[in-house]
This record gives sequence, structure tokens and C-alpha cells, in this order.
Amino acid sequence: MSCIFCRIVAGEIPAEIVAREADAVAFLDVQPLADGHVLIVPRAHVPTIEELTPAGADALFRLVTRLAGPVREALGGEATTIGINNGEASGQTIPHVHVHIVPRRRGDGAGTIHTIFPRDVRQKLPQVGAAIRKALGSS
Ligand code: AMP
Ligand code: ZN
Repeated sequence: MSCIFCRIVAGEIPAEIVAREADAVAFLDVQPLADGHVLIVPRAHVPTIEELTPAGADALFRLVTRLAGPVREALGGEATTIGINNGEASGQTIPHVHVHIVPRRRGDGAGTIHTIFPRDVRQKLPQVGAAIRKALGSS
């Protein structure tokens, strides 16, 4: 098993585990962006969000929901930023889906999700909406 997150889930390599559930596990990021930076992973090796089963998605996001408040409170945060690098081109470095929770406070110097994009928009909203509805198989 070469996936580092599978190995953490299996207990083969150490991690600071904060929650264990039947289908999902949470542990501290080893290179935290702030105190309390947590990663939540499904126990199953699933590379990206698109490949999660409905049950896997339920388990993953149930644990995200359960942890968001305690992670914020434990570190005296005022809010959290919750994010997923979904696919290598987005910056995902470990191909086992993981949700980041990072505690935030006013004036912490970090940006918002909006600040990671240079805003590259070329199409009108109705055109984009139609393309996504078509890909979804709805009208
Ligand atoms: P991403 O760029 O979204 O794929 O994030 C991967 C994250 O995994 C990074 O924030 C790393 O610091 C973190 N990471 C890598 N190896 C470990 C490890 N052994 N234990 C905990 N976190 C890790
Ligand atoms: Zn894995």
C-alpha cells in the first residue's frame, strides 16, 4: 500500500488522529497552515470527490460537519475555511480525497477562497449554465 493516507488510516504510519468513524478518519495536517489544520479522509482509497459513493460522501461530510465547530473552538478560532483540492491540476498532492479544515480569525492574514483565483471568465452565465445542465443530463 503506497498511499500515505491509506497507511495512516490503517495505522501503519503515525498521525495525530482526532476522530475515527466507521468510514472516515480525521487527523492533523503534518504541515499545518494554522494551529488546528485538520484533514478528513474516507477510509476507502478514493482519489477525488467524483469517485466517492453516496455512502462514502455521507460519511466524509458527516465527519466534516461534526468537526467544524470543535476544531474552531479548540483553537479559539472565529470561523473556519473548509476546502478540497480536487484533482492534480487543482494542486491536490495526495490522490486520496481529503477535506481541509483550517481555523480562522479576523486579521489572520489569510485570504478567502476567492483570492486563489485570478478571475478568468470568458462565457456568459446562461451559456455556462446550459453546458453544466447538459453534462448533468438535465435540461
Ligand atoms: P493537498 O495539497 O490538498 O493534496 O494536501 C495534502 C496535505 O497533506 C498537505 O497539506 C500536507 O501537509 C498533508 N500531508 C502530507 N503528508 C502527511 C502526513 N503524513 N500526515 C499528515 N498530513 C500530511
Ligand atoms: Zn489512499
